[in-house]
Amino acid sequence: MPLMANQPRQSVYDLTFPALASEMSGLATVHAKVLWRTLHREAETRLSERDDFQRPLRQWIEDRMGSSGRFYLENLELADQSESSDRLTRKFLLRLSDGQTIETVLMGYNGRHTACVSTQAGCAMGCVFCATGQMGFVRHLRPGEIVGQVLHAQRSLRASGREGLRNLVLMGMGEPLHNYDSVMTALEIISDRRGINIGPSRITISTVGVVPGILRLADEQRPYHLAVSLHGATEADRAALVPASRRWSLAELIAACRTYGEKTGRRIFFEWTLIAGTNDSPVHAAQLAKLLCGIESHINLIPLNPTSRFSGVASAGASTIEFQRVLREEGGFPSTIRQRRGIDVAAGCGQLRAEKMR
Ligand code: SAH
Ligand code: SF4
Repeated sequence: MPLMANQPRQSVYDLTFPALASEMSGLATVHAKVLWRTLHREAETRLSERDDFQRPLRQWIEDRMGSSGRFYLENLELADQSESSDRLTRKFLLRLSDGQTIETVLMGYNGRHTACVSTQAGCAMGCVFCATGQMGFVRHLRPGEIVGQVLHAQRSLRASGREGLRNLVLMGMGEPLHNYDSVMTALEIISDRRGINIGPSRITISTVGVVPGILRLADEQRPYHLAVSLHGATEADRAALVPASRRWSLAELIAACRTYGEKTGRRIFFEWTLIAGTNDSPVHAAQLAKLLCGIESHINLIPLNPTSRFSGVASAGASTIEFQRVLREEGGFPSTIRQRRGIDVAAGCGQLRAEKMR
Protein backbone atom coordinates (compact mmCIF):
# COMPACT_ATOMS: atom_id res chain seq x y z
CA MET A 1 0.00 0.00 0.00
CA PRO A 2 1.45 3.39 -0.92
CA LEU A 3 2.05 5.95 1.77
CA MET A 4 -0.91 8.26 2.55
CA ALA A 5 -0.26 12.01 2.55
CA ASN A 6 1.29 13.17 5.86
CA GLN A 7 1.73 9.59 7.08
CA PRO A 8 5.24 9.22 8.49
CA ARG A 9 7.29 6.31 7.27
CA GLN A 10 8.14 3.78 9.92
CA SER A 11 11.38 1.88 10.48
CA VAL A 12 10.84 -1.82 9.79
CA TYR A 13 13.05 -2.41 12.87
CA ASP A 14 10.37 -0.86 15.10
CA LEU A 15 8.17 -3.91 14.43
CA THR A 16 7.99 -7.07 16.53
CA PHE A 17 7.57 -10.32 14.60
CA PRO A 18 3.77 -10.48 15.20
CA ALA A 19 3.47 -6.86 14.01
CA LEU A 20 5.50 -7.59 10.85
CA ALA A 21 3.50 -10.78 10.20
CA SER A 22 0.29 -8.79 10.53
CA GLU A 23 1.56 -6.21 8.01
CA MET A 24 2.30 -9.13 5.67
CA SER A 25 -0.94 -10.98 6.35
CA GLY A 26 -1.84 -11.12 2.65
CA LEU A 27 1.16 -13.41 2.07
CA ALA A 28 1.98 -16.92 3.28
CA THR A 29 3.67 -16.72 6.74
CA VAL A 30 6.88 -18.16 5.37
CA HIS A 31 7.61 -14.80 3.71
CA ALA A 32 7.42 -12.90 7.02
CA LYS A 33 9.78 -15.48 8.54
CA VAL A 34 12.27 -15.14 5.69
CA LEU A 35 12.19 -11.34 5.89
CA TRP A 36 12.55 -11.39 9.70
CA ARG A 37 15.52 -13.75 9.52
CA THR A 38 17.17 -11.62 6.84
CA LEU A 39 16.70 -8.42 8.84
CA HIS A 40 17.50 -9.66 12.32
CA ARG A 41 19.63 -12.78 12.04
CA GLU A 42 21.62 -11.92 8.94
CA ALA A 43 21.54 -8.18 9.75
CA GLU A 44 21.28 -7.51 6.01
CA THR A 45 21.66 -3.85 5.06
CA ARG A 46 20.54 -3.96 1.39
CA LEU A 47 17.36 -5.89 0.65
CA SER A 48 17.25 -4.78 -2.99
CA GLU A 49 20.38 -6.80 -3.70
CA ARG A 50 18.88 -10.07 -2.52
CA ASP A 51 18.08 -12.31 -5.46
CA ASP A 52 17.10 -15.34 -3.38
CA PHE A 53 13.66 -14.08 -2.30
CA GLN A 54 10.53 -15.52 -3.86
CA ARG A 55 8.44 -13.28 -6.02
CA PRO A 56 5.64 -12.39 -3.50
CA LEU A 57 8.24 -11.26 -0.98
CA ARG A 58 10.17 -9.28 -3.58
CA GLN A 59 6.93 -7.59 -4.59
CA TRP A 60 6.00 -6.79 -0.96
CA ILE A 61 9.43 -5.24 -0.36
CA GLU A 62 9.15 -3.18 -3.52
CA ASP A 63 5.66 -1.90 -2.61
CA ARG A 64 6.07 -1.37 1.14
CA MET A 65 9.75 -0.63 1.49
CA GLY A 66 10.43 1.24 -1.73
CA SER A 67 10.89 5.03 -1.73
CA SER A 68 7.14 5.71 -1.36
CA GLY A 69 6.41 2.68 0.83
CA ARG A 70 5.14 2.70 4.40
CA PHE A 71 8.39 1.25 5.85
CA TYR A 72 12.07 1.94 5.47
CA LEU A 73 15.17 -0.10 6.18
CA GLU A 74 16.94 1.71 8.99
CA ASN A 75 20.72 1.57 9.34
CA LEU A 76 22.52 3.52 12.03
CA GLU A 77 25.46 5.33 10.52
CA LEU A 78 28.87 4.98 12.13
CA ALA A 79 30.08 8.48 13.07
CA ASP A 80 33.19 7.44 14.97
CA GLN A 81 34.72 4.44 16.69
CA SER A 82 37.61 3.61 18.95
CA GLU A 83 39.20 0.52 20.40
CA SER A 84 40.96 0.03 23.73
CA SER A 85 44.66 -0.75 23.64
CA ASP A 86 44.01 -4.34 24.77
CA ARG A 87 41.49 -4.56 21.87
CA LEU A 88 38.83 -6.02 24.15
CA THR A 89 36.54 -3.01 24.11
CA ARG A 90 35.24 -1.32 21.00
CA LYS A 91 33.13 1.77 21.18
CA PHE A 92 30.86 3.12 18.44
CA LEU A 93 29.37 6.57 18.07
CA LEU A 94 26.27 6.03 15.91
CA ARG A 95 24.34 8.75 14.11
CA LEU A 96 20.53 8.61 14.10
CA SER A 97 18.39 9.86 11.21
CA ASP A 98 17.87 13.29 12.86
CA GLY A 99 21.63 13.77 13.37
CA GLN A 100 21.68 12.90 17.08
CA THR A 101 24.54 10.64 18.14
CA ILE A 102 24.47 7.80 20.65
CA GLU A 103 27.03 5.35 21.99
CA THR A 104 27.20 1.58 21.81
CA VAL A 105 29.99 -0.45 23.37
CA LEU A 106 31.11 -3.97 22.52
CA MET A 107 33.09 -5.77 25.21
CA GLY A 108 34.83 -9.12 24.86
CA TYR A 109 35.72 -11.48 27.64
CA ASN A 110 36.86 -15.09 27.21
CA GLY A 111 35.61 -15.12 23.64
CA ARG A 112 32.14 -14.04 24.74
CA HIS A 113 30.83 -10.64 23.85
CA THR A 114 28.50 -8.22 25.54
CA ALA A 115 26.87 -5.24 23.86
CA CYS A 116 26.09 -2.20 25.96
CA VAL A 117 23.41 -0.07 24.32
CA SER A 118 21.81 3.34 24.79
CA THR A 119 18.08 3.85 25.35
CA GLN A 120 17.92 7.65 25.06
CA ALA A 121 19.95 10.47 23.50
CA GLY A 122 21.12 12.22 26.65
CA CYS A 123 19.40 11.61 29.98
CA ALA A 124 17.05 13.62 32.20
CA MET A 125 18.28 12.16 35.49
CA GLY A 126 21.36 14.34 35.92
CA CYS A 127 23.64 12.08 38.00
CA VAL A 128 26.55 14.40 38.78
CA PHE A 129 29.40 12.07 37.78
CA CYS A 130 27.86 10.86 34.52
CA ALA A 131 28.80 12.39 31.15
CA THR A 132 25.33 11.61 29.75
CA GLY A 133 23.63 13.22 32.75
CA GLN A 134 25.85 16.27 32.28
CA MET A 135 24.57 16.80 28.72
CA GLY A 136 20.86 16.69 29.67
CA PHE A 137 17.92 15.00 27.95
CA VAL A 138 17.58 15.15 24.17
CA ARG A 139 15.01 12.48 23.27
CA HIS A 140 13.85 8.90 23.70
CA LEU A 141 15.07 6.25 21.28
CA ARG A 142 12.57 4.25 19.22
CA PRO A 143 12.68 0.42 19.44
CA GLY A 144 14.37 0.26 16.02
CA GLU A 145 17.15 2.56 17.22
CA ILE A 146 17.85 0.23 20.16
CA VAL A 147 17.69 -2.90 17.96
CA GLY A 148 19.94 -1.15 15.40
CA GLN A 149 22.73 -0.82 17.98
CA VAL A 150 22.70 -4.56 18.65
CA LEU A 151 22.80 -5.25 14.92
CA HIS A 152 25.71 -2.85 14.52
CA ALA A 153 27.65 -4.65 17.26
CA GLN A 154 26.79 -8.00 15.65
CA ARG A 155 28.05 -6.86 12.22
CA SER A 156 31.24 -5.49 13.74
CA LEU A 157 31.93 -8.82 15.45
CA ARG A 158 31.29 -10.77 12.27
CA ALA A 159 33.47 -8.42 10.21
CA SER A 160 36.39 -9.31 12.48
CA GLY A 161 35.67 -13.00 12.01
CA ARG A 162 33.98 -13.52 15.35
CA GLU A 163 30.51 -14.72 16.24
CA GLY A 164 28.78 -14.86 19.50
CA LEU A 165 27.19 -11.74 20.84
CA ARG A 166 26.02 -13.34 24.04
CA ASN A 167 24.89 -10.72 26.50
CA LEU A 168 23.15 -7.40 26.36
CA VAL A 169 23.22 -4.67 29.00
CA LEU A 170 21.14 -1.50 28.91
CA MET A 171 23.87 0.59 30.48
CA GLY A 172 24.71 3.03 27.70
CA MET A 173 23.29 6.53 27.45
CA GLY A 174 19.90 7.16 29.02
CA GLU A 175 17.52 5.76 31.59
CA PRO A 176 15.74 2.66 30.23
CA LEU A 177 12.74 2.83 32.56
CA HIS A 178 12.10 6.45 31.51
CA ASN A 179 11.51 5.04 28.01
CA TYR A 180 9.67 1.93 29.18
CA ASP A 181 7.44 1.00 26.24
CA SER A 182 10.09 1.40 23.53
CA VAL A 183 12.62 -0.52 25.62
CA MET A 184 10.20 -3.43 26.21
CA THR A 185 9.34 -3.60 22.50
CA ALA A 186 13.06 -3.54 21.61
CA LEU A 187 13.81 -6.36 24.09
CA GLU A 188 10.97 -8.46 22.69
CA ILE A 189 12.52 -8.05 19.23
CA ILE A 190 16.10 -8.70 20.40
CA SER A 191 15.18 -11.83 22.36
CA ASP A 192 13.04 -13.30 19.56
CA ARG A 193 14.42 -16.77 18.85
CA ARG A 194 13.82 -16.48 15.11
CA GLY A 195 16.08 -13.44 14.92
CA ILE A 196 18.84 -11.95 17.09
CA ASN A 197 18.00 -14.45 19.83
CA ILE A 198 19.72 -13.02 22.90
CA GLY A 199 17.71 -14.82 25.58
CA PRO A 200 16.03 -12.83 28.39
CA SER A 201 18.34 -14.41 30.97
CA ARG A 202 21.28 -12.78 29.16
CA ILE A 203 19.75 -9.29 29.19
CA THR A 204 20.19 -6.77 32.02
CA ILE A 205 18.22 -3.54 32.44
CA SER A 206 20.05 -0.97 34.55
CA THR A 207 18.00 1.76 36.22
CA VAL A 208 18.76 4.80 38.34
CA GLY A 209 15.70 3.84 40.40
CA VAL A 210 12.53 4.81 38.52
CA VAL A 211 10.16 3.28 41.09
CA PRO A 212 7.01 2.99 38.91
CA GLY A 213 9.08 1.23 36.23
CA ILE A 214 10.53 -1.29 38.70
CA LEU A 215 7.03 -2.12 39.99
CA ARG A 216 5.75 -2.45 36.43
CA LEU A 217 8.57 -4.88 35.53
CA ALA A 218 7.49 -7.01 38.51
CA ASP A 219 3.75 -6.79 37.73
CA GLU A 220 4.34 -7.70 34.10
CA GLN A 221 6.77 -10.48 35.12
CA ARG A 222 9.36 -9.30 32.60
CA PRO A 223 12.02 -12.02 32.39
CA TYR A 224 15.12 -9.77 32.31
CA HIS A 225 17.75 -9.13 35.00
CA LEU A 226 17.44 -5.90 36.92
CA ALA A 227 20.34 -3.72 38.07
CA VAL A 228 19.66 -0.73 40.31
CA SER A 229 22.23 2.09 40.56
CA LEU A 230 22.46 3.16 44.20
CA HIS A 231 25.78 4.98 44.92
CA GLY A 232 24.55 6.16 48.34
CA ALA A 233 22.93 4.33 51.27
CA THR A 234 21.38 7.33 53.06
CA GLU A 235 18.88 9.77 51.56
CA ALA A 236 21.38 12.66 51.82
CA ASP A 237 24.38 10.79 50.43
CA ARG A 238 22.41 9.52 47.47
CA ALA A 239 20.69 12.83 46.73
CA ALA A 240 24.11 14.50 46.43
CA LEU A 241 25.02 12.20 43.53
CA VAL A 242 21.66 11.20 42.07
CA PRO A 243 19.17 14.09 41.76
CA ALA A 244 16.42 11.65 40.70
CA SER A 245 16.32 10.40 44.28
CA ARG A 246 14.45 13.58 45.22
CA ARG A 247 11.60 12.30 43.09
CA TRP A 248 11.76 8.68 44.22
CA SER A 249 13.30 8.54 47.68
CA LEU A 250 15.74 5.86 48.74
CA ALA A 251 13.10 4.47 51.13
CA GLU A 252 10.57 4.14 48.27
CA LEU A 253 13.22 2.64 46.00
CA ILE A 254 14.26 -0.03 48.50
CA ALA A 255 10.58 -0.86 49.17
CA ALA A 256 10.08 -1.27 45.40
CA CYS A 257 13.14 -3.54 45.22
CA ARG A 258 11.73 -5.71 48.03
CA THR A 259 8.41 -5.96 46.17
CA TYR A 260 10.26 -6.78 42.94
CA GLY A 261 12.26 -9.51 44.69
CA GLU A 262 9.15 -11.01 46.28
CA LYS A 263 7.05 -10.95 43.10
CA THR A 264 9.72 -12.27 40.74
CA GLY A 265 11.87 -14.40 43.06
CA ARG A 266 14.81 -12.88 41.26
CA ARG A 267 18.08 -11.57 42.63
CA ILE A 268 18.77 -7.87 42.07
CA PHE A 269 22.11 -6.40 41.03
CA PHE A 270 22.99 -3.14 42.77
CA GLU A 271 25.51 -0.81 41.20
CA TRP A 272 27.80 1.40 43.23
CA THR A 273 30.23 3.78 41.56
CA LEU A 274 33.13 4.14 43.99
CA ILE A 275 34.33 7.72 44.48
CA ALA A 276 37.33 8.32 46.74
CA GLY A 277 36.41 10.02 50.01
CA THR A 278 32.72 10.26 49.03
CA ASN A 279 31.15 6.81 49.25
CA ASP A 280 34.00 4.30 49.59
CA SER A 281 34.68 3.96 53.33
CA PRO A 282 33.98 0.87 55.48
CA VAL A 283 31.17 2.90 57.13
CA HIS A 284 29.51 3.39 53.73
CA ALA A 285 29.84 -0.33 53.05
CA ALA A 286 28.24 -1.18 56.41
CA GLN A 287 25.35 1.22 55.70
CA LEU A 288 24.83 -0.45 52.33
CA ALA A 289 24.87 -3.93 53.85
CA LYS A 290 22.24 -2.82 56.39
CA LEU A 291 20.07 -1.16 53.74
CA LEU A 292 19.93 -4.29 51.57
CA CYS A 293 19.31 -6.66 54.49
CA GLY A 294 16.80 -9.33 53.40
CA ILE A 295 17.04 -8.56 49.64
CA GLU A 296 18.78 -11.18 47.55
CA SER A 297 21.47 -9.00 46.03
CA HIS A 298 24.71 -8.95 44.11
CA ILE A 299 26.69 -5.73 44.23
CA ASN A 300 28.68 -4.42 41.27
CA LEU A 301 31.38 -1.98 42.29
CA ILE A 302 32.27 0.39 39.46
CA PRO A 303 35.49 2.43 39.58
CA LEU A 304 34.63 6.04 38.72
CA ASN A 305 35.50 7.06 35.18
CA PRO A 306 36.66 10.68 35.20
CA THR A 307 34.35 13.15 33.40
CA SER A 308 34.93 16.81 32.59
CA ARG A 309 32.32 18.27 34.92
CA PHE A 310 32.88 16.19 38.05
CA SER A 311 35.94 16.60 40.20
CA GLY A 312 35.77 13.26 42.07
CA VAL A 313 38.38 10.55 41.55
CA ALA A 314 38.20 6.76 41.57
CA SER A 315 38.78 4.89 44.83
CA ALA A 316 42.13 3.32 45.55
CA GLY A 317 42.35 -0.44 45.08
CA ALA A 318 42.80 -1.05 48.81
CA SER A 319 39.57 0.84 49.69
CA THR A 320 37.68 -1.19 47.11
CA ILE A 321 38.91 -4.49 48.55
CA GLU A 322 38.00 -3.32 52.05
CA PHE A 323 34.55 -2.23 50.85
CA GLN A 324 34.02 -5.72 49.46
CA ARG A 325 35.15 -7.34 52.70
CA VAL A 326 32.64 -5.35 54.78
CA LEU A 327 29.79 -6.18 52.39
CA ARG A 328 30.67 -9.85 52.65
CA GLU A 329 31.27 -10.01 56.39
CA GLU A 330 28.49 -7.72 57.58
CA GLY A 331 25.76 -8.59 55.09
CA GLY A 332 26.89 -11.81 53.40
CA PHE A 333 26.67 -9.97 50.06
CA PRO A 334 28.72 -11.10 47.06
CA SER A 335 30.22 -8.31 44.98
CA THR A 336 32.19 -7.91 41.77
CA ILE A 337 34.60 -5.14 40.86
CA ARG A 338 33.81 -4.00 37.35
CA GLN A 339 36.92 -4.05 35.19
CA ARG A 340 38.18 -0.65 34.11
CA ARG A 341 38.88 -2.04 30.68
CA GLY A 342 38.32 0.51 28.01
CA ILE A 343 39.00 3.56 30.08
CA ASP A 344 41.38 4.63 27.34
CA VAL A 345 38.50 4.68 24.85
CA ALA A 346 36.40 6.82 27.16
CA ALA A 347 34.10 3.89 27.76
CA GLY A 348 32.15 5.58 30.53
CA CYS A 349 28.64 6.26 29.33
CA GLY A 350 28.29 9.43 27.26
CA GLN A 351 31.99 10.23 27.23
CA LEU A 352 32.76 9.64 23.57
CA ARG A 353 29.89 11.88 22.46
CA ALA A 354 30.90 14.56 24.97
CA GLU A 355 34.49 14.50 23.70
CA LYS A 356 33.41 14.60 20.09
CA MET A 357 31.17 17.61 20.72
CA ARG A 358 34.01 19.50 22.38
N1 SAH B 1 20.60 5.10 33.48
C1 SAH B 1 20.91 3.79 33.91
C2 SAH B 1 21.76 3.02 32.94
C3 SAH B 1 22.90 3.79 32.28
S1 SAH B 1 24.25 4.24 33.33
C4 SAH B 1 21.54 3.82 35.30
O1 SAH B 1 21.90 4.89 35.76
O2 SAH B 1 21.62 2.76 35.90
C5 SAH B 1 25.01 2.67 33.70
C6 SAH B 1 25.86 2.68 34.93
O3 SAH B 1 27.05 3.46 34.72
C7 SAH B 1 25.16 3.26 36.16
O4 SAH B 1 25.35 2.44 37.28
C8 SAH B 1 25.88 4.58 36.33
O5 SAH B 1 25.81 5.05 37.65
C9 SAH B 1 27.27 4.25 35.87
N2 SAH B 1 28.07 5.42 35.52
C10 SAH B 1 27.70 6.52 34.85
N3 SAH B 1 28.73 7.38 34.72
C11 SAH B 1 29.79 6.82 35.32
C12 SAH B 1 31.15 7.23 35.53
N4 SAH B 1 31.60 8.40 35.10
N5 SAH B 1 31.96 6.39 36.20
C13 SAH B 1 31.50 5.20 36.64
N6 SAH B 1 30.24 4.76 36.50
C14 SAH B 1 29.38 5.57 35.83
FE1 SF4 C 1 21.17 8.96 33.36
FE2 SF4 C 1 22.18 6.64 34.27
FE3 SF4 C 1 23.80 8.72 33.62
FE4 SF4 C 1 22.24 8.84 35.80
S1 SF4 C 1 23.94 7.42 35.42
S2 SF4 C 1 22.51 10.47 34.28
S3 SF4 C 1 20.44 7.78 35.09
S4 SF4 C 1 22.51 7.57 32.23
